[in-house]
Amino acid sequence: MSSRIFKDEGLVIRTRVLGEADRLVTLLTLKGGKFEAAARGARKMKSRLAAGVDIFTRGEYTFHRGKTWPIITGQYPKERFLWFREDPELYPYGLYLAELADRLIVGEEACPELYNLLLGSWRLLGKSGDRSLILRAFELKAAQYLGYSPGLHNCPGCGSEQIRGFGPGEGSMVCSDCWSADFISLDSGTIALARRLLEVPLHQVVMIRPSARQKNELSRMNSAFLAYHLDPGELKSKRLLDE
Ligand SMILES: [Zn+2]
Repeated sequence: MSSRIFKDEGLVIRTRVLGEADRLVTLLTLKGGKFEAAARGARKMKSRLAAGVDIFTRGEYTFHRGKTWPIITGQYPKERFLWFREDPELYPYGLYLAELADRLIVGEEACPELYNLLLGSWRLLGKSGDRSLILRAFELKAAQYLGYSPGLHNCPGCGSEQIRGFGPGEGSMVCSDCWSADFISLDSGTIALARRLLEVPLHQVVMIRPSARQKNELSRMNSAFLAYHLDPGELKSKRLLDE
């Protein structure tokens, strides 16, 4: 029988109003995967709970198992990603990753790789570098950790390495012989870019310098791939980023 009290480290990826004074907080945690927890009194101005349960916070939390949701009974904020609040240009980037993590991760299964991917990406976005490239790397790596690793080398139809582009439904690069009209043609540089983003550690992503065309193509490829296999749906942040 599991204890009624448990602790975990987590990233706040969403908060919602709950009743008069409470908030329902969605956390991506290190040990417990993604789940919602109630923060009692978190909407009162002076609540000691308020600061640690804001979106874009990393903290250590103590929970008491409640009837509907776990209740946060203790919180120790470790890191607050304030640049997403203070810089309106940065905000949609941080929100996009939070929304994507929320939509793509379904259960309460621990996935430390995803946890560290989101944490590392939020940190990197606060530094200088190509922000859109961090989002593309996140999309590819998150899909891989969720078991939908995109095939970036051989055509699944014939095994050819002569790649023409990407088949979203196939989840793979495809050759000319196996081509279908709804596939996405890719520049050879874009194919190389996708491979590199998936292979290199996250912190090395900002050292890559792709062309605008390569970034546009990869953005289309990733969106189509995610929509087909993981169906994140409409995201508020995506609209903000497109603007
Ligand atoms: Zn083929």
